[in-house]
Amino acid sequence: MANDASTVFDLVILGGGSGGYAAALRGAQLGLDVALIEKGKVGGTCLHNGCIPTKALLHAGEIADQARESEQFGVKATFEGIDIAAVHKYKDDVIAGLYKGLQGLIASRKITYIEGEGRLSSPTSVDVNGQRVQGRHVLLATGSVPKSLPGLEIDGDRIISSDHALVLDRVPTSAIVLGGGVIGVEFASAWKSFGTDVTVIEGMKHLVPVEDENSSKLLERAFRKRGIKFNLGTFFEKAEYTQDGVKVTLADGKTFEAEVLLVAVGRGPVSQGLGYEEAGVAMDRGYVLVDEYMRTNVPTISAVGDLVPTLQLAHVGFAEGILVAERLAGLKTVPIDYDGVPRVTYCHPEVASVGITEAKAKEIYGADKVVALKYNLAGNGKSKILKTAGEIKLVQVKDGAVVGVHMVGDRMGEQVGEAQLIYNWEALPAEVAQLVHAHPTQNEALGEAHLALAGKPLHSHD
Ligand SMILES: Cc1cc2nc3c(=O)[nH]c(=O)nc-3n(C[C@H](O)[C@H](O)[C@H](O)COP(=O)(O)OP(=O)(O)OC[C@H]3O[C@@H](n4cnc5c(N)ncnc54)[C@H](O)[C@@H]3O)c2cc1C
Repeated sequence: MANDASTVFDLVILGGGSGGYAAALRGAQLGLDVALIEKGKVGGTCLHNGCIPTKALLHAGEIADQARESEQFGVKATFEGIDIAAVHKYKDDVIAGLYKGLQGLIASRKITYIEGEGRLSSPTSVDVNGQRVQGRHVLLATGSVPKSLPGLEIDGDRIISSDHALVLDRVPTSAIVLGGGVIGVEFASAWKSFGTDVTVIEGMKHLVPVEDENSSKLLERAFRKRGIKFNLGTFFEKAEYTQDGVKVTLADGKTFEAEVLLVAVGRGPVSQGLGYEEAGVAMDRGYVLVDEYMRTNVPTISAVGDLVPTLQLAHVGFAEGILVAERLAGLKTVPIDYDGVPRVTYCHPEVASVGITEAKAKEIYGADKVVALKYNLAGNGKSKILKTAGEIKLVQVKDGAVVGVHMVGDRMGEQVGEAQLIYNWEALPAEVAQLVHAHPTQNEALGEAHLALAGKPLHSHD
């Protein structure tokens, strides 16, 4: 629909990232007149500064590692180094192809795309480029940006965020990564593969601290083996410039020096100065508060994605955006089970999980009602071929369903699809054990873990 002053859209979306554009695509598919307002590039963080570019860097790093380790497989290859400009070209080509495809999709669904910085001007309108865009409903999807810590200023040169790290024109000789969460360990992994001397600083007890403790420990073991250093359990105190780098001091007085400091301490919502509070939208520390149907307290306004306090993942944004579009189009919608959303950290080795941790299961069901089983990838033929180590850990409610699947190992992210079905369909171990898994695949390890949990282990000890 063309936009003029008298047009009233069914849905006006502020922000064209994963959450916003998914709502636009699904809404248009269901016959809604949709306006999508984006100040940067449609696709948002995930496509341009997040999921896609980081995974391209990690894949380039994997190839570097394979070249270095080729002799273990009887292949004579030599690793000569990283041409970072060429790595960026490869990464940017991937982004450009997907960006073009997404723009085509938006156009083909007849979505009114408005480029510009918007501001909520009432519960039913957004002002952009000096124009008022009116809608029966408004969806806030302005996403998030990298956070820092008090007194730690990101200069984009020596103290950088993930946005800067993704376009860095050199491979740093050494790097301190502040934050051992998903983004931190992914950069640590890619940089190490590129040849950087990396130290991760994490204030919590473990790397990837929201994962099951077993996964964290396995990742720490693998990182130690790769020569990625880390310091756990002590918080950051300050950072100072040295002659040619940065010095970080921790609360216990310990110091670390490196060429660059990557601040990966999380992302904060983009909501300031956008008119949300003035329109009466309830917020908490910058996040827009929503119910399980993504409705704010203002009846004409919904919100999705990193702007709301749910899991900060692209596929969560997609799901929330779709939910809003379907609700507005009058379809029956079901709240998202966030525990049932798969989570993958794409470092080397990968960490993948769905469902709840053993600790959480014990909290919910009681310690004596929870069974945990670990299946070591050493017994899995394909993992042996790939020379990857790791484990699949299953968490089961005694005599009941599998409520958590926690995997560590190269390519285990690709196994999370089946794990997701197991969790979300509340499968019993015996039911999964009945399914025949292809040999030799890493997927088979998931089958074998369930065989073991069902009391009939095949390639593992009783
Ligand atoms: C380094 C990194 C790696 C990541 N890797 C993964 C991964 O592997 N898998 C995964 O699932 N998730 C990953 N994520 C998280 C994922 O990118 C986010 O969860 C997702 O992008 C959130 O989508 P969103 O639509 O809420 O916000 P965003 O993608 O941030 O989109 C918000 C959009 O709103 C626009 N906007 C903001 N304000 C205005 C305004 N006033 N007017 C107009 N437009 C505006 C912005 O320009 C932006 O395009 C990663 C994130 C980072 C930073």
